Amino acid sequence: MAQHLKDKEAYQRLNYLYQAAHCVLSQNPKNVELARFYCFTQKTIAKRLVLRQDPSVKRTLCKKCCSLLIPGVTATTRQRRKKGKTRFTVVRCLSCGQSKTLLNNPDHCLWADRPEAQLEQQKQPDPVTSAESQPKHPKHPKPDGSQSSKPGAAQTSACT
Ligand SMILES: [Zn+2]
Repeated sequence: MAQHLKDKEAYQRLNYLYQAAHCVLSQNPKNVELARFYCFTQKTIAKRLVLRQDPSVKRTLCKKCCSLLIPGVTATTRQRRKKGKTRFTVVRCLSCGQSKTLLNNPDHCLWADRPEAQLEQQKQPDPVTSAESQPKHPKHPKPDGSQSSKPGAAQTSACT
């Protein structure tokens, strides 16, 4: 991650809520509702502040009821096969029945893990960045800019 992380406190809060959901479920598997409340809060914060959550986190949350998906506790995990070759992992939420299907591909690389997804590695042309950094409108264009700033007055004076 970058050395200067924006919304650091919000990310710490998301982390805390996610860990708290795991904690209450491990203490008592009946704490499904409490864990869901934590995950729902976590989802709401991420949505409000437009924060990206890691795919490993997103895969353990039910997108329908915000339940924390733990295989054998709050979710079932099954292996499915399609057309002989492609295999899928189907995680089904035990609370609402929503299932998510993940392709079993050990070579799959997430977009965020690819080198071209990193902003620092993208080459940006220098003239564009230098032009954007310069202010488009100087603060004081003319000493008597207050009079010439009115377009109607300038046109009438030109006609006469
Ligand atoms: Zn669910």
